[in-house]
Amino acid sequence: MMDRYDFRNKPSVLIQGAMETETEYMIARLLDAECVALGNWRFHTGFLGKHREPVIISRTYQGMVNAAAATSLALAHFMPRAVINQGIAGGHDPQFHRGDIVLGERVVPMGAMLYGFAEAGAGIDADDFKPLPIEIYNRRAQTTEKAIDFPCDRRLLELAEKVESPYRTARGVIGSADEWNNQLDRIALLRRRYGTTTEDMESAAVAQLCLSYGIPFIGIRILSNSIVNAEDYDEAVGEDVQKFMIKYVEALQEF
Ligand code: SAH
Repeated sequence: MMDRYDFRNKPSVLIQGAMETETEYMIARLLDAECVALGNWRFHTGFLGKHREPVIISRTYQGMVNAAAATSLALAHFMPRAVINQGIAGGHDPQFHRGDIVLGERVVPMGAMLYGFAEAGAGIDADDFKPLPIEIYNRRAQTTEKAIDFPCDRRLLELAEKVESPYRTARGVIGSADEWNNQLDRIALLRRRYGTTTEDMESAAVAQLCLSYGIPFIGIRILSNSIVNAEDYDEAVGEDVQKFMIKYVEALQEF
């Protein structure tokens, strides 16, 4: 009998998605699939793609706290060699349409805001803020530092750019917060402050922890809606980004 691959001590890639529509297709295609439960989260180990890449598919559930918790558990338990946070997102940049895929060059926590002072009765100036630097524990340096954005791994990005697929892909900046923005002026403001291409509710939480641990990270998101182009939400594209992911994983042998 062949020995089982030990996902705790051997190299693996962690692939996350918040919802069923972002994870189900990949989980169904895992070879030698097994499920590990840690806390309230399930981690599906197995082999994906034609080169049988060892992967862990994690359904994080929606939002920053869930994403952070699932990531924290996975990093401590499996210590993966790379982390990919993927799924659906909303468009900020009108050049991207529903079904297009944003390959993250960096991720910004767009809920982190430092507001200017205003007197009582002066009203609320939603425009008067700067990105608030976030404290990150650097495991290697054993000290904390502050950052206003989190870069995606350059080699992971370059490999994503080489993937051949029927989808339109381009580099972009992924903004995350527990928010769903629909006001066009606010989206324009977020674009001015953070340079966002797209918004979701998980990537930045994951990117922050990967930066802390020193683990290569990339965010990859398909647009399921673009209010700036009047394109309504369609979560079915979650399957398309997973198809892209399988091609991507096949290229990760080079990583
Ligand atoms: N009604 C569905 C829709 C959820 S969509 C439900 O609650 O089940 C929210 C998820 O999709 C989040 O995980 C987020 O990461 C992503 N998302 C898609 N479009 C988004 C947008 N415009 N703003 C924020 N998150 C978005």
